[in-house]
Amino acid sequence: MKDTFTRSPPSPARVDKTLISKTYMSTLKDLFLDELADMYDAEKRIAKALPKMSKAATSQELQEALNNHLEETKEQITKLEEVFDSFGEKAKGKTCKATVGILEEGDEIASDNEGSPTINAALISACQKVEHYEIASYGCLQEWASLLGNDRAAELLGEILEQEEAANDTLTEIAESSANDEALGDEESDEEEEAPAAKSASAKKSGKR
Ligand code: FE
Ligand code: FE
Ligand code: FE
Ligand code: ZN
Repeated sequence: MKDTFTRSPPSPARVDKTLISKTYMSTLKDLFLDELADMYDAEKRIAKALPKMSKAATSQELQEALNNHLEETKEQITKLEEVFDSFGEKAKGKTCKATVGILEEGDEIASDNEGSPTINAALISACQKVEHYEIASYGCLQEWASLLGNDRAAELLGEILEQEEAANDTLTEIAESSANDEALGDEESDEEEEAPAAKSASAKKSGKR
């Protein structure tokens, strides 16, 4: 025990060797392929989740946007397979824990807001979290592919990045043009006026003895 505190530090030569071997354990290409596998897994999960999110939406405009992005997501899966191929690698996925979490939260927010005028605004916020994660990931992947000298991969990843950015912009437009106003509750106040008032009026009338 005492030894732990009194032992002299390792010699500089030894420290250097450790650092050097660690540096070379992982190359930029390893990092790139690892992150590519992460996004390959993410897109497959997103493709599974989008139909559920679209079904939960009550705005036709939002449903169309999500269905459209589902088609793009399927294309993206194929594009990622092409990217793997351009590196001479077989496509493989590695669980994207972030997407698992963001989609879980999306499920939760969708069920919490079901039947409420906030449902579309809630779904948009959940979907935009996915888009932002994708935008960050593909921005890095595209840059790394360029640095690794693979122009075809960089081009494909750039195409995917553009689709994610456009999907995010479409969601912002729907939020600003309708979903957020709906969530403010205009429709809800109409319903509240009719239902309880009508019931109590008829109850009073039939209540005479
Ligand atoms: Fe995507
Ligand atoms: Fe991830
Ligand atoms: Fe969160
Ligand atoms: Zn997306």
